[in-house]
Amino acid sequence: MAEYYGLNGEVANTSSGVTIHVEGPSDRIAAFESDLSAKSPPLAYIVDISGQPETVKNFPNFSIVKSKDESEISTLISADVSICEDCLRELLDPNDRRYHYPFINCTNCGPRYTIIDDIPYDRPKTSMRHFKMCPACQAEYDDPSNRRFHAQPNACAACGPRVRLCDNQGNEIAVDDPIPKTANLLKQGYIVAIKGLGGYHLATDAENTDAVLRLRVRKLREEKPFAIMSYDPDHIRRYAEIAPDEMRLLTSIQRPIVLLRKKVPNSISDEVAPHNNYFGVMLPYTPLHYLLLKNGFIALVMTSGNLREEPIAIDNADAFKRLADIADFFLIHNREIYLRSDDSIVRHIAGTKRFIRRSRGFVPIPVFLKNKMLPILACGAELKNTICITKNDTAFLSQHIGDLENLATYDFFQLTIHHLKRILEITPEIIACDMHPDYLSTQYAQEQSNIQKIQVQHHHAHIVSCMTEHKLDGPVIGLSLDGTGYGPDHTVWGGEVLVAEQHAFERVGHIACVPMPGSTAAIKEPWRMAVSYLRDAYGSEFRNLNLKPVSEIADEKLTIISAMMTKGVNSPLTSSLGRLFDGVAAIIGIRQRVNFEGQAAMELEMLSADSTSEIYDYEWISGDMLKILPAPIIRGVVDDLQNGMTVAEIGAKFHETVIQLFADVCGVMRKERHLKRVVLSGGCFQNAFLLTGLIQALEKKNFEVFTHQQVPANDGGLALGQAMVAAAQIRRD
Ligand code: ZN
Ligand code: ZN
Ligand code: FE
Repeated sequence: MAEYYGLNGEVANTSSGVTIHVEGPSDRIAAFESDLSAKSPPLAYIVDISGQPETVKNFPNFSIVKSKDESEISTLISADVSICEDCLRELLDPNDRRYHYPFINCTNCGPRYTIIDDIPYDRPKTSMRHFKMCPACQAEYDDPSNRRFHAQPNACAACGPRVRLCDNQGNEIAVDDPIPKTANLLKQGYIVAIKGLGGYHLATDAENTDAVLRLRVRKLREEKPFAIMSYDPDHIRRYAEIAPDEMRLLTSIQRPIVLLRKKVPNSISDEVAPHNNYFGVMLPYTPLHYLLLKNGFIALVMTSGNLREEPIAIDNADAFKRLADIADFFLIHNREIYLRSDDSIVRHIAGTKRFIRRSRGFVPIPVFLKNKMLPILACGAELKNTICITKNDTAFLSQHIGDLENLATYDFFQLTIHHLKRILEITPEIIACDMHPDYLSTQYAQEQSNIQKIQVQHHHAHIVSCMTEHKLDGPVIGLSLDGTGYGPDHTVWGGEVLVAEQHAFERVGHIACVPMPGSTAAIKEPWRMAVSYLRDAYGSEFRNLNLKPVSEIADEKLTIISAMMTKGVNSPLTSSLGRLFDGVAAIIGIRQRVNFEGQAAMELEMLSADSTSEIYDYEWISGDMLKILPAPIIRGVVDDLQNGMTVAEIGAKFHETVIQLFADVCGVMRKERHLKRVVLSGGCFQNAFLLTGLIQALEKKNFEVFTHQQVPANDGGLALGQAMVAAAQIRRD
């Protein structure tokens, strides 16, 4: 740009960012300055820009100078980015020297975070170090006017990584071009493990029910939806609706999985997303995906390359070890993945993008903070774990790590902490974690020596996570509506009304507690929660009701469960809203058992009508602690069901009740506490009906409402809140 405006001077990376010295006529300098932010490259993220007059040094030209003190440089590491338009055009151009080369990339696109081993981000510190650039690639790399100037993963067929097709024993299949051959195998119904950007995918033809079922059986994944990938939006429109906002998400450079409403009927196998009104859909994001998908598939299943909930495979040898019983063939390559990163999942709700999983494409872009702070490591939750590391006024939330219930995931958790500490050059001085003593993330924190530890209450962390996104100090009203979290009073929290500040909170209200018979078994078997709520509403009379959780469960079992609750055996008390959703879903017959966390609540949302003007009667006990009673709502649901109301109407009425009820509770808090800002967080806010409705109801009452936009409302965003609570507590000491 300096050359374009005929300006002389220099540009360098310094410890405070990028410094540019330009000399020339003032009008051209002004034009240059305004172009800096307006015409910055697609991946540039300008946090702040400022200028000042300097002495003229009569530079002979404009040059890029090497930084004086590399160790002090604080530039952000880019996330992995989908292939850009220019590279895609070259990929498909028979006259281009990179025609059909599956690793084409440039400064505007390609792998970043997943191939970095250390900083600064330079080729020798990435997995591209094993590939010496050919003269043609080197010339592009050295030319400031070239799109591939300093593009670290720059490569071509002559010098770069290559793909190979193997059987599931690791024997290479001799073939001229492995990609069309792979497409052929997929068309025949085979399952192929495909090495991608952040890890392996398991691919199969999404229209082939036999193949999709075989994948479910082999992967031990019963009903959890599979993500699918299609060549372009026209292909997607054949089986799903795309609203304009959703189109922007689909085609964004991060290329997340976007939840799109199914068209009915459609040609995609019912086994891809059973009992679900949505498909999780993404567009291709690597050149290899494009080359594969252009062979005439409506859609390919592209699910994480793992068994059940293990971390996805990234290493070739590991993939052959772990995926040989699932995949028939392997399409592999020799560009190593240093850090796995699952596909991100988003849904457009209430006017903006909401994260269900924040990972590839978004990590390691930080959340920018109001204040500088000590380096803190926050260890996150047990399920949907992510970790967070703070550096000055930025907080880095890691990629999705997963459920810390198997050793492989726990190893990945430790590896991610180690890796992020290295590439951010941070030695944490404080470690923050949940209060739950059984979380592996808590145990990890407790095992670290010579470091101050701070335990943070789960639902406080949720609210502070959202406050941090909006740079709020508090106090605010925090509605932490969630599945499960450790309460300091030894009950299981999850339907919480808090008055929250960054450093502390007061619990001012919650859903009145009922027992969870069988403890965690009640999460997997919603009929247990149904029985608990019915017993709470009707006493022992509930057994005379003609309802599925009563009629479908053996009498002896109901007797045992009732006795357990009466005696308080293995029946912790819970105030969780997630469990109330589960219980209602079971009572109205949606499902008595789930195959994955939150399935019953999710199906209740999907089966509900879009809106209703009716609500159930609701009551609470006021006092120092406001207690919302589930019994009147449960009785209303049962009455409607017995009067023949449809599941869709009851579902909508139940959602609307929860919305009006919490909006009213906020009204009480405004009177008592003079607070008008409400912060919404917790896993229940993945529910579009609840989130949209509560925002509307609260705004109608003139509240200022704050919701998650940068990190997930579920436990995937928890670590950010943990770090910030710890920071605020330290500041006050
Ligand atoms: Zn490109
Ligand atoms: Zn080359
Ligand atoms: Fe939670």
